[in-house]
Amino acid sequence: MSKPKKKKKPTPQKPKKQKKVGAKENLPRSTAKKASAKWTATADPTNPKRVAAILAGLDEAYPNATCELNHENPFQLVISTILSAQCTDVRVNQVTATLYKKYPDAKAFAHANPAELEIDIRPTGFFRNKTKSIMGASKAILERFGGEVPRTMEEMLTLPGVARKTANVVLGTAYGISSGVVVDTHVQRLSNRLELTKNEDPTKIEQDLIKILPQEKWIQFSHQLIWHGRRVCVARNPRCVECNLEKLCNARDKTV
Ligand code: SF4
Repeated sequence: MSKPKKKKKPTPQKPKKQKKVGAKENLPRSTAKKASAKWTATADPTNPKRVAAILAGLDEAYPNATCELNHENPFQLVISTILSAQCTDVRVNQVTATLYKKYPDAKAFAHANPAELEIDIRPTGFFRNKTKSIMGASKAILERFGGEVPRTMEEMLTLPGVARKTANVVLGTAYGISSGVVVDTHVQRLSNRLELTKNEDPTKIEQDLIKILPQEKWIQFSHQLIWHGRRVCVARNPRCVECNLEKLCNARDKTV
């Protein structure tokens, strides 16, 4: 009896190579753009790995980033931060170079002649409101806190003219207290460009950043983002060719 023939095993077929979604060589240009846009929209840009890569890039580019408002003590930083609203740090520093000689402490500001102080700080803009805030904050620091700038967010927010941004600047820079994340115009713009938030409101942006950043990075992250916003990721025509975060960035107004 002849042996039954063994059935030939079917040769396994090689799996077909998957085409990259949106690969430009396989799709018409418009379709490739749509596919890539879809990927960007569905990926989570706040995942811990991407956030860590952004933080590493900022550490690499700005290891020594710090507050650029000149000050010799926490009280001067309160005044300089109030003056910095709608004004550049360079202009504030020009004004405070003589201002702090004329008004050396909280007592001097609290008892200043308002009309004279208005003239002294006029180059920083909004000088009437800023005079009220400076004199009010100085009086409160003198009368309620024994002449020393308080060290908690709750107390800071009781000072006239002091909101979360100023409080975070002073607590973080002067005392090294991580009370939150400073959200100024640069942090606001860059957090959106880097898709770390979808919000425009600074308070909401701060809450989004607090959720995704390790607390020990809160202070330095703001300094670094502000430096990046001033030097590279400027408002109009960001200098993306010089940016070490370029590969992580999907900003719509990227220039490369
Ligand atoms: S790539 Fe351009 S838009 Fe993105 S963070 Fe860098 S400078 Fe800003």
